[in-house]
Amino acid sequence: MLPTSDTLNRVSESATIKMAQLSRELAAKGINVISLSLGEPDFQTPAHIKEAAKKAIDSGKYDSYSPIAGYLDLRQAICEKLKRDNNLEYKPENIVVSTGAKQSLANIFISFLNEGDEVIIPAPYWVSYPEQVKLCNATPVYISTTVDSEFKITAAQLEQAITPKTKFLVYSSPSNPTGSVYTREELQSFVEVLERHPHVYVISDEIYEHINYAGKHVSIAEFPSMKDRTIVVNGQAKGYAMTGWRIGYMAAPVFVAKACDKLQGQITSGTNSVAQQATITALLGDQQPTYDMREAFRKRRDLVLGMLKDIPNVKCNIPTGAFYVFPDVSAYFGKDFNGSPIKDADDLALYLLHEGHVAAVSGNGFGAPECIRFSYAASEENLKEAFTRVKNALAKLA
Ligand code: PMP
Ligand code: GLU
Repeated sequence: MLPTSDTLNRVSESATIKMAQLSRELAAKGINVISLSLGEPDFQTPAHIKEAAKKAIDSGKYDSYSPIAGYLDLRQAICEKLKRDNNLEYKPENIVVSTGAKQSLANIFISFLNEGDEVIIPAPYWVSYPEQVKLCNATPVYISTTVDSEFKITAAQLEQAITPKTKFLVYSSPSNPTGSVYTREELQSFVEVLERHPHVYVISDEIYEHINYAGKHVSIAEFPSMKDRTIVVNGQAKGYAMTGWRIGYMAAPVFVAKACDKLQGQITSGTNSVAQQATITALLGDQQPTYDMREAFRKRRDLVLGMLKDIPNVKCNIPTGAFYVFPDVSAYFGKDFNGSPIKDADDLALYLLHEGHVAAVSGNGFGAPECIRFSYAASEENLKEAFTRVKNALAKLA
């Protein structure tokens, strides 16, 4: 057997994907597991988007390699979307389309990070940010927050975390896993700090843009002083229920786009041609299915928050975006079930899986070891059953 590389050894397995895998394994044994682990809409991709893909296949025009950064008509459609939804002016040369937003992020980190560079990551964070940074031998610098501040950082915390080695600040708003959404005023306060530190670039992960119950989405790139130092990352997975289609993109200064184009040309080439064509229809066609899905998620959020209130010693913020609840469950640490101790969130997630048959993800991978993440992108019926199971399983802990 070959020893794995130092590069791979620096990286942990994705906590979300590991839990989804465990729950699939139990389900394959015939156990009725309700999986609230993986963050993916349970809706089908809207019909008009699927139709566009079928047309693209039948046209015979999309059987060949696509340009590395994406077809020009798709990059134009992305520019149109950014103008329409975000009031941001970009040209196709600013856009790179990739195999999911995960690849967009990896492209940026690999293209710009050297050993010793620092990336500021407010915690809780999406599991892959620190791991991708470590892959590049760079250093994640965490800013910690608690449920009492809705897990949001302050401008003062940001200022304190910046050093001459800081290359990027990366965050998602709406946030995976907390569901928090930064307001324009909060972003303004970050901008004031960042204006004093012009060497820091921002990676603004806006993949949950359309799943926002707080009002209109705000991007930090809308602040004129930040536009040339912000890389907006977005994708089709969440708002358009297209996780499997693997389309993500960035809108970035031209030098960033060029670097990522070069890297992608050596790693994956242009992403799937048919999915790119379907994305043009998704972005420029009827947006109603996206709005309808958001409203369904809002109803489910309310349902889940109502059920969580009935579970003793669970403390949760009110998420205003994305489709996760991220309660603090640390009151259950130190209890045990039939002599087996529940030491931490990892143990609790495994306990809920094996005893409650509900898959959730430990907060450890998200930088919040006191929490556990449940996705509510599931049917109301499954959510009702799942949180009843969680309540019963927790009640058995002594
Ligand atoms: N960013 C965040 C915050 C996410 O939750 C995800 C989850 N998929 C991604 C990026 C990656 O998305 P994609 O499926 O487009 O790779
Ligand atoms: N982003 C989703 C999640 O957090 C999908 C899984 C992944 O790519 O990590 O569950």
